[in-house]
Amino acid sequence: MLEKILQELAAHQTQLVAVSKTHPASTIRRIYDAGQRDFGENKVQEITDKQEELPADIRWHFIGHLQTNKVKYITPFVHLIHSVDSAKVLKEINKRAGNDERRVDCLLQFKIAEEDTKYGLTLAEARELLQSDRYRAMENIRIVGVMGMATFTDDEQQVRTEFRRLKTIFDTLKQEFFADADHFKEISMGMSGDYQLAMEEGSTMVRIGSLIFGERDYQ
Ligand SMILES: *Cc1c(COP(=O)(O)O)cnc(C)c1O
Repeated sequence: MLEKILQELAAHQTQLVAVSKTHPASTIRRIYDAGQRDFGENKVQEITDKQEELPADIRWHFIGHLQTNKVKYITPFVHLIHSVDSAKVLKEINKRAGNDERRVDCLLQFKIAEEDTKYGLTLAEARELLQSDRYRAMENIRIVGVMGMATFTDDEQQVRTEFRRLKTIFDTLKQEFFADADHFKEISMGMSGDYQLAMEEGSTMVRIGSLIFGERDYQ
């Protein structure tokens, strides 16, 4: 399965984040041995435990909602935080990354789904953040793109519309704030059920879990 997905992604020059949440280190190790190096987790305790146990050349992606008081546990090692959804959490990431003498790459998460359960910024909130003096003074973070989750539905047209929404947000921010910043280039969208649509709509990074690891058991 991994091989087939990687071939599809290569055709679109899209990167794979293998979402390993709920799966034990031994399972991740098998996918690692097949060559995969980017793994995604959505819980702070779980990502730190696995980071300690697994090879040091794994690039760990944090993809879940991040509470301010837990930022300090992941800044020492995290490769990319996909889920920055407030100025407050970004400020804390910058502070903790500074303490760790690192610069941490981040994506701004946007609310693109009709469902109102998903975390994320609006375009207006992102503009306010990016225009602020507080943001301009941050030296230990770098915003490298955007992330979003589509509604969980069979309605292909709706999912496409939501992905287009994120692509438009990316293009807008690129033009307004990052025109000269080559590092602002990532659009993290697409999961097991919708990654093909996401690739067609311009995703640069997909986050795929169950298709690679099988169904999750939350017990
Ligand atoms: C769990 C999760 C995924 C992967 O979901 P699958 O449907 O298993 O591919 C992707 N993104 C986020 C934010 C997740 O929490």
